[in-house]
Amino acid sequence: MKALVLEAFNKLVYKDFPDPVVANDEVLVKVEAVGICGSDVYGMDGSTGRRIPPIVMGHEAAGTITSPGSDVKVWKMGDRVTFDSTIYRLDDWYTRKGLYNLSDQRQVLGVSPGEYRRHGAFAE
Ligand SMILES: [Zn+2]
Repeated sequence: MKALVLEAFNKLVYKDFPDPVVANDEVLVKVEAVGICGSDVYGMDGSTGRRIPPIVMGHEAAGTITSPGSDVKVWKMGDRVTFDSTIYRLDDWYTRKGLYNLSDQRQVLGVSPGEYRRHGAFAE
């Protein structure tokens, strides 16, 4: 697929990029629209430290499901979706109380602060 990759601070390159691997409890979304968040702008120039290159940024998007994982029951191919860009454990103490934004090991699409790297939606 094609993606807009932050290869170095202030250096974005539109290029071929490996297709994402979809876990059994995930869906693959063909991105049809994506927003540019202020955090992407300040991540691009390195001022926040939360977009360490190389990274495909973008965490506010909408599109169509092209590949649901084998454990996904509610969503199906062709569904038009948008999504919460955070990834969190469902068995976490905070998540069980509805406070998933505080979940241990929470990650955000399009972010690479050093502890993890989650490529985002500036991609097909
Ligand atoms: Zn944002």
